[in-house]
Amino acid sequence: MSCILVVEEARRDGSTRVFQETLAAGRRLAELTGLAVEAAGVGEPGRNIFAQITGAQPAAGHAIRHELLAAYTADGYTLAFEQLIRRLEPRYVLFPHSYQARDFVPGLAARFGQALIGDVTAIGEGPTFARQLYQGRMHATYRHAGGGPCFLSIQNGAFRADEGAGGTMPVSEFTPALEPAQIRTRPGTPFRETAQTVDLSSAQRIVGVGRGIKDAEKLPLVEDLAGALGAELGASRPICDNGWLPMERQVGSSGQTVAPKLYLAVGISGAIQHLVGMKGSQCIVAINKDPDAPIFEVADYGIVGDLFEVVPALTEAVKAAR
Ligand SMILES: Cc1cc2nc3c(=O)[nH]c(=O)nc-3n(C[C@H](O)[C@H](O)[C@H](O)COP(=O)(O)OP(=O)(O)OC[C@H]3O[C@@H](n4cnc5c(N)ncnc54)[C@H](O)[C@@H]3O)c2cc1C
Repeated sequence: MSCILVVEEARRDGSTRVFQETLAAGRRLAELTGLAVEAAGVGEPGRNIFAQITGAQPAAGHAIRHELLAAYTADGYTLAFEQLIRRLEPRYVLFPHSYQARDFVPGLAARFGQALIGDVTAIGEGPTFARQLYQGRMHATYRHAGGGPCFLSIQNGAFRADEGAGGTMPVSEFTPALEPAQIRTRPGTPFRETAQTVDLSSAQRIVGVGRGIKDAEKLPLVEDLAGALGAELGASRPICDNGWLPMERQVGSSGQTVAPKLYLAVGISGAIQHLVGMKGSQCIVAINKDPDAPIFEVADYGIVGDLFEVVPALTEAVKAAR
């Protein structure tokens, strides 16, 4: 068991942010274990899949190349990574917690008699791996016991990608033994993470609206507040899933990661998938009628109350102050 293997995944728009964050998690694990970080990914000929790595370079890169991997299939990726992992014998294998990883990594881990510790948000001494359960109401800490590689997937936004270029690393090619008959599924439509035509990441102020708003017809209430504050409108996932606001307004692990000066969360419970997308905000204000809502754990200011009373009053106060 020799290293920490971090698996590359670029989004369809070419963004490597989730990979960079997973690398940062790998570096954190390296600090705690003294093991070296290496990178692996499926590469198309002519594309250097590790070209965009920022921060300290991994000790080595492994580019998996095979024509049967030109399009993603769970069968192809499982077989290819199984062979690479058996060859390298890493102690830990880290993936971004993406739709694609969730599709094939549990099966890959099972081939090694392991379970996937998914959705990891922090790595502590031990090492221990933190994740949240029941929409943030419980924190759980996991420790890997026994032999075999430990498979982890890292929540988006939980680790900050390192800045700055850090030199070069040796990259070797790995060609797995794959036969067409082993790929039992046809490639489907690629997994789609959220499109981002509205760039919330550069907004200075955001009013985030959640399921507490109850009804699309009530949205003008928060739109008025956002207008008074000169803020962009963001949303939790159920709001976008319901089609009440476009998907690009979604904040969180499968939406945008934002870090405005002010994030005003209205009727949002504070599930981990939402928190990882906005906890880097400079000032977080939460309005929620439930005093035990997890959002209050990250809030700088909390208003426990009915948003249908608090929001109009706040809007009036902001307008008056301006
Ligand atoms: C793989 C995966 C990815 C996900 N990605 C994301 C993501 O990117 N972003 C995201 O947001 N979620 C994401 N989720 C969903 C996430 O787990 C939560 O379900 C979601 O964030 C909950 O949204 P919410 O807080 O708006 O709703 P709820 O959890 O239903 O919370 C509503 C809140 O409103 C409060 N409320 C109700 N009425 C009022 C009132 N009148 N006044 C004041 N407060 C009131 C309630 O007390 C409650 O706290 C993801 C889930 C999965 C499994």
